Amino acid sequence: MLIHLECTRCGEHYPSDRPQTVCTKDGGILYARYDLPKLKKTFSAARLAGRAPTMWRYDAVLPDADPVSLGEGFTPILASREFPNVYIKDEGLNPTGSFKARGLAAAVTMARHFGLKKLAIPSAGNAASALAAYAALAGLETHIFMPKDVPAANRVECDYYGAHVTLVDGLISDCAKKVAQLKDSDVWEKDGWFDVSTTKEPYRVEGKKTMGYEVAEQLGWKLPQGIIYPTGGGVGMLGMWKAFEEMEALGWIGSERPKMISVQAAGCAPIVKAWQEEKSQSEMWNNAATLASGLRVPKPYGDYLILDILKKSKGTALTATDDEIVEAVRHWAKVEGVFAAPEGAACVVAYRKLRDIGFFEPDDTVVLFNTGSGLKYLDVLDASVGKTLPAKPPEAAKPAARHIGGIIGPY
Ligand SMILES: [Zn+2]
Repeated sequence: MLIHLECTRCGEHYPSDRPQTVCTKDGGILYARYDLPKLKKTFSAARLAGRAPTMWRYDAVLPDADPVSLGEGFTPILASREFPNVYIKDEGLNPTGSFKARGLAAAVTMARHFGLKKLAIPSAGNAASALAAYAALAGLETHIFMPKDVPAANRVECDYYGAHVTLVDGLISDCAKKVAQLKDSDVWEKDGWFDVSTTKEPYRVEGKKTMGYEVAEQLGWKLPQGIIYPTGGGVGMLGMWKAFEEMEALGWIGSERPKMISVQAAGCAPIVKAWQEEKSQSEMWNNAATLASGLRVPKPYGDYLILDILKKSKGTALTATDDEIVEAVRHWAKVEGVFAAPEGAACVVAYRKLRDIGFFEPDDTVVLFNTGSGLKYLDVLDASVGKTLPAKPPEAAKPAARHIGGIIGPY
């Protein structure tokens, strides 16, 4: 049902039968457009019942290609124990432990479909792990450029998945420069390279949009009053908004929309600053610093779309400090049983602030996105609280008396 790609700035159409990056006229992000009126006649939400609980249950609104899948998507939506009417969408349960699985599953699916050979990505961490895993599954070569201080899990995962990892002394924007240099070299096209940077190819948004379909389906096709989303590159925000428009065109929901809320780290908040200054684009945030590595994006490429969504949805943007975030990680773990990524825990900081000022009422249904598992940030979280993990008891260091073959038992 995919008919073409469309520039989100000028509306120019591009064919979807070959690899595309961004609009050649104005650098605008390209969105995949489907024949929704036709689909409306042939496919209803009721037909989703009984389908596999992965993001590919929505394949009617995804590009038609053989999926490269590790079972991503259809993550649980958990009712908060602390706040009635609040739900936690736990994306930490995806393959590779973060929401990045969705976008990269879709991007790698299309890369394999188009016969691309070598994928390059600048990543603040979790996108790199996800790309490395899906590329491994697809048998494609991956080159990853990540800041040298990414959480250890991301670096180790990429290494084990067999990716080529370059550690960069700088931020994700510096990593992006490295990929740009590579693009200018003569080997780029000759060797079948492709850049899967956030929003610089059209299909990561398509994978991420399935979060919007899931929120609607899991809440009985009734959208919540608010969605709080930790915003680095903002692909999920773009994707969910796109999903809502598609679902309305399909007749699955009405014209109601949740207020979309961007939460960013106080140490890197380009969207919040632009929102407060009522600008339509963000400015490069200097000296970005936060332990929430996924929020260390000094200028998201899709800023113009994120700010437009905040405005259209009557949402807002606000910050959480690293201290507030670490406290929230601990709080959520203790109160909700969810060991969240710092980026995800920022959502509860934002929710509390928005409740305090009356932006949300207690009976408003609000979905908070935990974008990843805290297990991917053990080194970061351990160091940040100024404590170390309890030392191993001496007997734990002894070799096991017998081989334990994956079973945890009383040996
Ligand atoms: Zn354009």
